[in-house]
Amino acid sequence: MALLLKNGTYIHSETLEFITSNILVEEGENGGIIFLKDIPSDSNIQIIDCTGKYITQSFVCGHHHVYSALSRGMGAPKKNPENFNEILEYVWWTLDKCLDAEMIKASALYTAIACVKNGVTFVIDHHASPNAIQGSLEIIASAFEKVGASHLLCYEISDRDGFDKAEEGLNETAEYLKNHQGLVGLHASFTVSDYTLKKAVELAKQSDSGIHIHVAEAESDQNHCVSTYGMRVIERLQKFGALDSGKTILGHCLHLSENEKKIISNTPAWVVQNTESNLNNKVGYFNAEGLGENIMLGTDGMHSDMLRSAKAAFFVGQNFDTIGYDTVYQRFRNADRYLKNNGFTGHGPNNLVVLDYDTPTPFKKGNFYGHFVFGLESKHIQHVISQGSLIVENRKILTVDEEKILADARIQAERLWSKMRK
Ligand SMILES: [Zn+2]
Repeated sequence: MALLLKNGTYIHSETLEFITSNILVEEGENGGIIFLKDIPSDSNIQIIDCTGKYITQSFVCGHHHVYSALSRGMGAPKKNPENFNEILEYVWWTLDKCLDAEMIKASALYTAIACVKNGVTFVIDHHASPNAIQGSLEIIASAFEKVGASHLLCYEISDRDGFDKAEEGLNETAEYLKNHQGLVGLHASFTVSDYTLKKAVELAKQSDSGIHIHVAEAESDQNHCVSTYGMRVIERLQKFGALDSGKTILGHCLHLSENEKKIISNTPAWVVQNTESNLNNKVGYFNAEGLGENIMLGTDGMHSDMLRSAKAAFFVGQNFDTIGYDTVYQRFRNADRYLKNNGFTGHGPNNLVVLDYDTPTPFKKGNFYGHFVFGLESKHIQHVISQGSLIVENRKILTVDEEKILADARIQAERLWSKMRK
């Protein structure tokens, strides 16, 4: 059934034009939106009164981790981590090894719900479950689709658990890319051998895909690369052709030399900034200077709220980055350009949020950025439309039973935590 958003104010995500109109939302992957003066008398149209509401394109998360969904409140690791590598070893690599199919499914369903309720209808995820690799991406894709979130998934290939696991990761990726849009995931330079890196780039090229990898999240990634390979991380990725594709995503990029920044800005590859994760891991501050225009925002699995990520990037950036009101909005929206230019589907004009946003000051094109930084929050997201279908209505998810999914997730979380304690 087609949807009609009656008498809302549409904010064009690029031009920031405000248009008050009725909007007919077409269904399906290639559906569009049509501005209508009059309400059609078609009984096959669901009408939602949007008087006083704002409507705009829904959001994209440029870097997420479904695998971390069941970590909230899990308690302290066996050893208190003293640096980033220990955080990986004692927290995330302990957790991901314990994940099984049921836990992955629960993690994916919860993540998709959290995303869409925050207006994020497209998720770029980077997944790891070294003891449940085969089929893991299909589990996540199905869960996302059940909820109504579009996706660009990858498996985090790494040699950190041995070459067999890297091989399994490559196979899982190859299998998945046969039937889905996706990326070839790599954990990070310091856990990926030359052999695996070469294989991953070959697979990306064969599948007309790109690489999705963590880059220089901590200085230790660079130190390892220089001492092992005699070059810096970006130089190494360039040498293997990982930066040749406009689909490639480089996560974090905190500790880069001027030369590495220059290399990135001269390639079509993308950078994704994850401010709150960087703060949490105490690994440094993102600075976009010299990186070029291809920068988008992610959550790194910390949460699923892109408006929050944008605010964090803006406020932390006041001290550590060159970021203005327009720049933060651009970074927030750049994922739209990433998806569109690369021909990825699932983020057309019929993906929308309806905002119930009351403001004590005028809200218009000329002061949109001020409202974006200081006003708009995920609590204002009242309805969410994904590929023309209403999936969140009055802040309630319509596609799945959220209560049941959360109850099951809590059971899976207990199972995961008890496995981790062993
Ligand atoms: Zn990450």
